[in-house]
Amino acid sequence: MAHDQYDVVVVGGGIAGCFAAATAAAEGMAVAQLERKPREQGGYIACGDAIKRPREPANYPGPIDMDAIADDEAVLIDSNIDQIEFWDEDLDVRKVLPYDEQGSNVVDRYEFGQRLLEQAADNGVEQHYDTVVNEVTQDGRVTGVKAVRDGEPVTYKCDVLIDTAGAQSILQDMVDFDALDTAGDPTFEVPHYTHFGSAYREIIETEKPVSYHNAIVGKPLEELGYIWYFPRTPTQINVGLGFQMNKDPIPFADRIRRDLENRPEFQGATVAEKFGTKNKLGSAIALRRPLDSMVAPGYLAAGGAAGTTHPITGKGIRGAAYSGYSAGRAAVQAVEDGDVSEAGLWEHNRWLYREHGEAAKLASWDAYNVAASSMDVNVLRAVAALLPEAELREIVGTSTEIDSLKSKLHVGSGVLKNFVSESRKGTFETLGVSKRDLLEAIRGVRTTRDHVATYERQYEAYPADRDGFERWVAQRNRIDQAFYDDLGLAPSEHKY
Ligand SMILES: Cc1cc2nc3c(=O)[nH]c(=O)nc-3n(C[C@H](O)[C@H](O)[C@H](O)COP(=O)(O)OP(=O)(O)OC[C@H]3O[C@@H](n4cnc5c(N)ncnc54)[C@H](O)[C@@H]3O)c2cc1C
Repeated sequence: MAHDQYDVVVVGGGIAGCFAAATAAAEGMAVAQLERKPREQGGYIACGDAIKRPREPANYPGPIDMDAIADDEAVLIDSNIDQIEFWDEDLDVRKVLPYDEQGSNVVDRYEFGQRLLEQAADNGVEQHYDTVVNEVTQDGRVTGVKAVRDGEPVTYKCDVLIDTAGAQSILQDMVDFDALDTAGDPTFEVPHYTHFGSAYREIIETEKPVSYHNAIVGKPLEELGYIWYFPRTPTQINVGLGFQMNKDPIPFADRIRRDLENRPEFQGATVAEKFGTKNKLGSAIALRRPLDSMVAPGYLAAGGAAGTTHPITGKGIRGAAYSGYSAGRAAVQAVEDGDVSEAGLWEHNRWLYREHGEAAKLASWDAYNVAASSMDVNVLRAVAALLPEAELREIVGTSTEIDSLKSKLHVGSGVLKNFVSESRKGTFETLGVSKRDLLEAIRGVRTTRDHVATYERQYEAYPADRDGFERWVAQRNRIDQAFYDDLGLAPSEHKY
């Protein structure tokens, strides 16, 4: 058996796990990466396959060579996606939103995952596959894990455990955070199950190229969520759907079939095969703001396990990459300093919220998820029909583009114009949405924009060290309360 004492143990062979493990190993740490799947299935994960441009170093920091990945034709299978399309076909609404300057790329998620695992190994990570972690050990701090490897029990000890076991990480049920030695209450925030979504996808092969091969397409569901068509090639489409777990469940495969049956381009289409079976996969997905604190003594969380996913679109590849890098980096620093306490590992929180900053944006954008969850789905569809493309683009991205008075007036006149045309079409009657509901909902969107800006300022002021945390949380909770009050939400409807 390999020696069981490591500087860093990383649980999870996904994106966050590879970025974390490679970053720590590249700095000379002894790192073990544990993955429950067999080697050849590493990286075979439910995903829509759409990623932000891989060649941008700010998106994917650390020793993983993303240029090599972008050069690999088996991985980057489509780099021509330049627009997002929103279709609400029952209402005859179709919006085309040009992508931001970075555009989107589509990867073969399995090949991508395999390359990441290879690169982590090349950086010196010791990888143990077929290894299912079933217990976290602790003694004032997290000290390691117990697992079953190839059917045999095995123990791993470490200075820092990095939890990259994905959304709804089982490790977080195994740690007794209250029993760890912390100055005051533990800062680590264990997420609630309603903060997750459930998502599923199939890879469908069509006989003829689809007309939207340069676009990723989203369509509303009958519950809060969407169906997507993301073309991997003009004839191979990743079709999936996801919805939030605080809503009624939707039978995935039946719902997809129902959608495809009505579309001529999918007549005669088949589901692709992988590992001798149909290429259909589902998983949980984080649809919340990144955790307030992702550290505990001897323990760090990153990726889906830390909620670094876009709270509206559910995209989490990039968040998993940079938060994995951050966790690996903070672990190295703490081990070298001989301080793996909350304070010693705080750098992970600080870097993500203050220095890199993208976690702050994700956290602020979660306000749109809160507002959307509070609306009836027909009201939401009516609002989507009304909002001009620029505003929709802002909501599904994370950059504020509508700041100046001029652009606000432009958006306002766009809403008015859409209101006139949708009224003529009878959209609001079809949906059974009154003008009063609509006005109320538009006011909610405007209120949410203002709160997003307030949240952004608060997250940019995230405490640089452990000491300021409670004061900062209290202030952030006051912003939550003001937002809930503005939306008219009863305490039972509060997300946090
Ligand atoms: C259907 C679907 C579509 C999506 N589409 C997109 C998209 O188009 N673009 C995008 O950017 N994001 C998308 N996402 C989100 C994205 O896939 C995730 O945010 C991302 O995979 C998170 O990476 P991660 O490394 O944190 O976790 P994961 O990729 O989930 O990896 C976790 C790993 O931990 C392993 N593991 C878990 N428990 C244990 C254990 N006890 N012992 C050992 N190993 C364990 C798992 O086997 C897995 O390999 C989608 C998600 C879903 C479900």
